[in-house]
Amino acid sequence: MPNTEQIREALRAVIDPELRQSIIDLGMVRSIEQPEPGRVDVVVSLTTPGCPIRSHFQKGVTEAVAALDGVQLVNVGFDVLSPEEKQGLQQRLGRQDGLPTGALARVKNVICVGSGKGGVGKSTVTANLAAALTAEGHPAAAMDADVWGYSIPRMLGVHGKPRVSAERKILPLVAVGGVKAVSIEFFLERQDQAIIWRGPMLHKAIRQFLEDVDWGELDYLLIDLPPGTGDVSMTLAQLLPQARFLVVTTPQPAAQNVAKRAAEAAQRFELEIAGVIENMSGFTTPGGERFTIFGEGGGQLLADELDVPLLGKIPLQEELRTGADEGRPLVLTDPDAPASQALYHAVRGLIAVTPPQPLMQQPTSGHLAPAAAPVTGTPLPMAP
Ligand code: ADP
Repeated sequence: MPNTEQIREALRAVIDPELRQSIIDLGMVRSIEQPEPGRVDVVVSLTTPGCPIRSHFQKGVTEAVAALDGVQLVNVGFDVLSPEEKQGLQQRLGRQDGLPTGALARVKNVICVGSGKGGVGKSTVTANLAAALTAEGHPAAAMDADVWGYSIPRMLGVHGKPRVSAERKILPLVAVGGVKAVSIEFFLERQDQAIIWRGPMLHKAIRQFLEDVDWGELDYLLIDLPPGTGDVSMTLAQLLPQARFLVVTTPQPAAQNVAKRAAEAAQRFELEIAGVIENMSGFTTPGGERFTIFGEGGGQLLADELDVPLLGKIPLQEELRTGADEGRPLVLTDPDAPASQALYHAVRGLIAVTPPQPLMQQPTSGHLAPAAAPVTGTPLPMAP
């Protein structure tokens, strides 16, 4: 078996494509362990949660170490450099002006909101959480990755074409309450235009949303995922290894099982699960009588099974639906409504589990590759 020094030497072959130095020289190799004969575990520290070249490191490290005599299995794990370590890295690079600025450099938390199936209120919850977070003093944005059933523009009441900044970045539209939004809808010729997305194109569109949008300083970027466990979740997990996953489910056991599969897929892609939100949790009549239309207890069961907190139980309330249809999030128009109260409760829970860390003085970069194409004109590749 090779010793640690020999493994470190082999890892010199792994070059960070953006910083153009080996991950050893950059101090990005956190640990090298050999828990059993023939097996090597390497942990690589990334500069930012939004580091889309994780797969490059995964492949490079695996190949470099597997080439050594006696190595049968290589496990590559990832974590993030602490602010002090990032500063050290900057000094090593001799750059006083910070690393190249990435689009997500000023986004403190990325939360992917997913569900097992459609219609459980994932988009409604996403839109209202973004509005409630912003109202609570935590600037937030909602991004539609639910490319087939995008509904963020309608729910936040924002439509139109985004402007492009002097730096050729797409500027999000700003909805009521100051919530920023980016959706596939903004790039369609007509609102009713049908889109047939194929895998690579979808990947490219999402990548462009993340890289070519100037999100500005955000405490939370909420990404509305398509229901289920498809391409998009995988793309996002690759692009944003440190994003967290928030699961929305309805209370009945059947839905909870489907939601669990989605959560498990997220875990397979190494997205950490932040918590569960149960939606459509009972309906209370004006007279105070409560009906558990979609059953009861599913959210708590799911949270227990995943060993994450149940962040909120949002009751059925007609005004939440009409607000969503009219582009006026209920958390803003009636913060005291029962559904709003439950959403604010969920927001406080989300903040507790994913506190926005202060940004460094000098923004550091993600490893965001330059935009593949200029974003003026038609920014996104659209299928007919
Ligand atoms: P998904 O994104 O999971 O497909 P939506 O957010 O589009 O689901 O919700 C489906 C429908 O149910 C929408 O009309 C929405 O406004 C409504 N809805 C969602 N949650 C609630 C709720 N708690 N009370 C009343 N209506 C709701």
